[in-house]
Amino acid sequence: MRHLILSDIHANNTALDAALEAAKGKWDKVVCLGDVVGYGPDPNEVIDRIRELRAVTIRGNHDKASSGLADAEDFNPVARNVALWTRAQLRPENKDWLERLPLGPVTIDGFTIAHGACRDEDEYVFAPAQALDSLLDARSPITFFGHTHLQGGFTLRNDVVGVLHFKPAGGGPFSTLTIEDGTTYLLNPGSIGQPRDGDTRAAFAIADLENHSVEFWRIEYDIEAVQKRMQAAELPEPLIQRLSFGR
Ligand code: ZN
Repeated sequence: MRHLILSDIHANNTALDAALEAAKGKWDKVVCLGDVVGYGPDPNEVIDRIRELRAVTIRGNHDKASSGLADAEDFNPVARNVALWTRAQLRPENKDWLERLPLGPVTIDGFTIAHGACRDEDEYVFAPAQALDSLLDARSPITFFGHTHLQGGFTLRNDVVGVLHFKPAGGGPFSTLTIEDGTTYLLNPGSIGQPRDGDTRAAFAIADLENHSVEFWRIEYDIEAVQKRMQAAELPEPLIQRLSFGR
């Protein structure tokens, strides 16, 4: 079975559209690692889409804050402002759906999904030292996580932690990781709606674990169209600008 792995969509329907178009016919099931909403202008459209796709979805910190499950007290003022805006936009059935999203980690089809670190959904995993706990505690050889908005990952093999970076080779839209037995993987598909690794393109992954392969994709989308909707909704300027820089 092939899985389309989505994370940190952040209410960016244009980026989600472009990713789904590129991935058409290449997957059997969708999983989503949380932060469906927050930051972006299209919370209802994106939730409708994820529900239609019957994606196996866990919650992220922005989903909690936007549904009202968590107060947004620990958010910076810009993120808090958008969490409250998002809460006001949500149709009641979408707010219910968001509230009911399960807490990760969740194991499905032989692999695990988490929003942040395995032991704490709100913890960021940027560096090998931060990845070690999640690698040692892993419930399955492969865990997908999000939250940092950085496509890449970590490996544990013979007690040594490795770092994975992906750059699509030869101008193609994806690069392929071959999964090896005896290695534990912590893999981040990157963010659909607000990439932060300096590459403005939407990021996602397609896993075909029976064939030991995970593809890490980057796809261009119409950033200006999203920025115009954000301006019309009077969302904070720094959030509008950062999409142009991928930071
Ligand atoms: Zn996020």
